[in-house]
Amino acid sequence: MNVSGDFPDFPFQSGPGKRLAVLGDPVRHSLSPAMHNAALAEMAQRQPLLKEWHYHAIRVPAAELSSALPWLHEQEVCGINLTLPHKVEALALIDSVEPMAARMGAVNTLIRTPRGYRGTNTDGYGVTRALEESFGGGFAGRDVWIFGAGGAARGIAVAALEAGCQRLTVVNRTADRLHGLRMALEASGPVPRCRFLTMAEAKVDADPQALLINATSLGLKESDPSPVPGAYLEPGRDIYDSTYGAANALWRASVAAGCRYADGLSMLVWQGARSLEIWTGEPVPVETMRAAAMAALKERQAP
Ligand code: NAP
Repeated sequence: MNVSGDFPDFPFQSGPGKRLAVLGDPVRHSLSPAMHNAALAEMAQRQPLLKEWHYHAIRVPAAELSSALPWLHEQEVCGINLTLPHKVEALALIDSVEPMAARMGAVNTLIRTPRGYRGTNTDGYGVTRALEESFGGGFAGRDVWIFGAGGAARGIAVAALEAGCQRLTVVNRTADRLHGLRMALEASGPVPRCRFLTMAEAKVDADPQALLINATSLGLKESDPSPVPGAYLEPGRDIYDSTYGAANALWRASVAAGCRYADGLSMLVWQGARSLEIWTGEPVPVETMRAAAMAALKERQAP
């Protein structure tokens, strides 16, 4: 395989340290390298072995994931994060998967083993910690609405169900992905308190204190329309937007309607912190990761 031609973003120098990477397409604007490398630098002060570790971003188009993973395994890349568009497709390409990630039908974290990669998912952990810090509590006992049914929605849906939400409604633009998410969740039988609706089928019967989560890719740009119709935005509702970095239409409408709104930077930080903790086995400086992510975001937004 002409590796350097296939994955030109990958640095080929071999060194004493361990290598970590995020794979995605696009991935150039990922905040993860800044966030993880800042944490590793701080962790290395306590644990000198981490001094040589480095986290890279590698652009891997969807069609190349099946050749990239064995190659990265050969290169002894010890930990991998997966982002758009790989979280669901990677499941069929890895050696083993942890039960929670299997239920989600999506993996965002791979751990190298001698036989191949083992997959897990830290998105559910990430969103739970993010909700606790943004709104003072997680999913337990709440009427939860997830807009979107892709890789992120799968992790969030399982986290909500495992935490004992009062009811879960997943709303998606089209039926196909909604069906895929439903099949993953119902693999071992129907899930009580759970509804799967297309946007056209959904009616606004949310609890007054419902938690609404944007897990669509709408909101990454200021000009994107809001993924949540205005009728859902009432005072008393909490809106968690898994996108971040744009003063988007959902943020504007939520604030205008008197809802509490939080963006997805906190989820990014917590899911990344959990991945790094799994790879290194060491406590991770979450606030350092957050500061590095915010600084990288600011730099990305600079004209
Ligand atoms: P994905 O698998 O590609 O799913 C995209 C979802 O967005 C689908 O449900 C899709 O609906 C919906 N969508 C796309 N364009 C739409 C439009 N114009 N109108 C309505 N719905 C639309 O992506 P993903 O991996 O789940 O990621 C989704 C979002 O979550 C991304 O913005 C990503 O940045 C964010 N995310 C954030 C974190 C974090 O840590 N903060 C972690 C993971 C993901 P259809 O099925 O109808 O196409």
